[in-house]
Amino acid sequence: MILFVDNHKFHYEMENLCRVFFPHEKITVTHDESIPDTSSVYVKTSLCRGEQSTEITARVKIDATEKEITSLVENDIIDYESECEKIMAQALYGCFVQLVGNVTQWGILTGVRPSKLMNKLIDQNGEEKAKKYFKKELLVSEKKTELAVEVAEKERDIMAKSRPESFSLYVSIPFCPTRCSYCSFVSHSMAQAKKLLPEYVELLCKEIEYTGEIAKNLGLRLETIYYGGGTPSILTAEQLLKIGDKIENAFDLSKVIEYTIEAGRPDTITKEKLEAMKSINVSRISINPQTFNDLSLEAIGRKHTSQCTLEAFSLARECGFDNINMDLIAGLPLDTLESFDNTLDKIEQLNPEGVTVHTLALKRSSTLVTSGQGAEDKGITPQMVDMAYDRLKKIGYLPYYMYRQSRCVGNLENVGYSKQGKEGLYNIFMMEECHSVFAVGAGAVIKLKEPKGDYIERVFNFKYPYEYISRFDEILQRKKRIEEFYSDYEY
Ligand code: SF4
Repeated sequence: MILFVDNHKFHYEMENLCRVFFPHEKITVTHDESIPDTSSVYVKTSLCRGEQSTEITARVKIDATEKEITSLVENDIIDYESECEKIMAQALYGCFVQLVGNVTQWGILTGVRPSKLMNKLIDQNGEEKAKKYFKKELLVSEKKTELAVEVAEKERDIMAKSRPESFSLYVSIPFCPTRCSYCSFVSHSMAQAKKLLPEYVELLCKEIEYTGEIAKNLGLRLETIYYGGGTPSILTAEQLLKIGDKIENAFDLSKVIEYTIEAGRPDTITKEKLEAMKSINVSRISINPQTFNDLSLEAIGRKHTSQCTLEAFSLARECGFDNINMDLIAGLPLDTLESFDNTLDKIEQLNPEGVTVHTLALKRSSTLVTSGQGAEDKGITPQMVDMAYDRLKKIGYLPYYMYRQSRCVGNLENVGYSKQGKEGLYNIFMMEECHSVFAVGAGAVIKLKEPKGDYIERVFNFKYPYEYISRFDEILQRKKRIEEFYSDYEY
């Protein structure tokens, strides 16, 4: 696809919108009109400012068919730039819908955090006007507008728990037993990487200690702890204890309101590991079946069965875990509406405190896409997502957190549901950028948030474990930025 950008700065948003309709196309963005429109999909977006108004045009040509939409924006309108961007997106969306015939439920909204935008609009103009703006201006469906409102309301209560001096700790364990076919997260050999684990844990403990000193010096308040991955339950019970003890010694945990380990793969969960988690005061874990359809599990290379999930879950209950989340994915290969319904039956029987329903994302470097398996028609995915919403709400779960990713099947969303009072707090703090996240480990990104404002700065750790180990001194050096950052603010 060629996306010709004529005289405007909205190429990023227009490219995102093109990707919604053509998720697998390579998009070439150009400002050079001399490039011929020989591509099977050619898009031109242009802005022409006249004396009183600005003409905005989107033209889309798909093979032999073509559609063009032009609109005018008054030059003296408030928020002129964002109005131009919105009108251009509406025009482009209109062309696509007429040519492709595929209306997406999120309209022209391509951002990661729809509920954050909803909250902002409610603050500015109240709920009714916010809903109207979603539906009329952003072209979001009634159902997704309601979902954004429900999530925004839940988030508000939880966001109020965060203070200017709050922060969360994220511990990155980027190791997995094998690679799932839809994953683009780990690109190195699992077996090779796993050999690095003991040395990785040693250095991770040093980084935790160093970060803890900084947090104490700054007088910050640790609210939540989250181990993500990868698969954190790949750690042995001894390694879990070692990291947990290091965190306990390095930080003041007296105000911590949630301590989560995303155990992840059921095949890595043992009684010893669960007991180790309990003994370091982990309050919430996630055991992720993805589906209870064994054919799908095999197709995505998960190397565990649904029986294995059931056993891991009952082991966790025996060990006393009373806040368990389970991740599901809608749109997996070989999953049908019937088998997805069956997965929801199993969830109902197990009755976990939280369920996170992801939509399959077709990441370019995943084996699902590179092997061509991802090309399977996923037309039933929106029905699965709706089914999950309806059934989970009926049995007492409420949506409390939501985010969107690029290349999600049907341009759909990921939603966290929970029983009342069992929401994953870290998820909201992180997604809604309530406070700083001090992240440790390979691939971790420290997010520094201005204590009483919105400014955010990121500090990146090395992505892969081997770089993290070989250049560890640089990681500690980069951490100095945390103290510099906070020295500019009162909190
Ligand atoms: S467990 Fe998660 S991070 Fe690991 S390979 Fe599978 S999807 Fe990727």
